[in-house]
Amino acid sequence: MAEGNLPTKALVLTFDDGYQDNFINALPVLEKHRCAATFFIASKGIEQGYLWNDQVQQLIIATEAEKISKEITGVVLPLHSKQEKIQSFNALITYLKFLDQNTRTMKIKLLEDELGAVIYKRTMMTASQVKQLTDKGFMLGAHTHNHTILSTETKQVTIDELQTNKVYLETLTRKEIDSIAFPNGLYNRDYNKEHCGAAKQLKFRFGFSTNDGGAFQHTPKFALPRFMPFRRNLSLFSLSIAKIASENG
Ligand SMILES: [Zn+2]
Repeated sequence: MAEGNLPTKALVLTFDDGYQDNFINALPVLEKHRCAATFFIASKGIEQGYLWNDQVQQLIIATEAEKISKEITGVVLPLHSKQEKIQSFNALITYLKFLDQNTRTMKIKLLEDELGAVIYKRTMMTASQVKQLTDKGFMLGAHTHNHTILSTETKQVTIDELQTNKVYLETLTRKEIDSIAFPNGLYNRDYNKEHCGAAKQLKFRFGFSTNDGGAFQHTPKFALPRFMPFRRNLSLFSLSIAKIASENG
């Protein structure tokens, strides 16, 4: 793109986080259609088997408690039915994701005390699966170690998160990791130019946001927008594709 020699309507497929379904479901389809793709990996998930949001989900699914007390979020979240569990889960995730990593870990410990601890199931790829992706020629990118929203963290934690993640992935694959997808990824809310500066200092060359849109030659290199095709409604999905297509036209 920097050199201006991409074909029109070029696209890049990216997968964030490192979930096991990337390996089980997406990989065979990508290979069948000979598509390249890049996987942005939160390394704590690979090491530990799950991310904090998976813990919350598994705790809520397993619990027989009738509610989550207001100690956690400030309001009582009911858990009587499947519907209530889904609503309370969504409210809890929205609340917890904007906390810094330390506070969130403390809140999840409280949640385990209230709901009853479970043995967490692996949801993320294993290190061997991640390695296999690169051996097959797919690219990896950074996604921080703990999948924490960088704007909630101090400068030092930001550097640690980026560095730990980069070193983990480079040690595993013996390849340079030079791109990052910022967790949650809205530019100027979830990360800003200071976080881009920290990434540049650690020798990252470009970064992706979750802002909707196509990328052009003038697009800032650390805020490359993407388009998230997980709209459940088919006509909304078509509309968002049409929007990106018209921006490129
Ligand atoms: Zn993510």
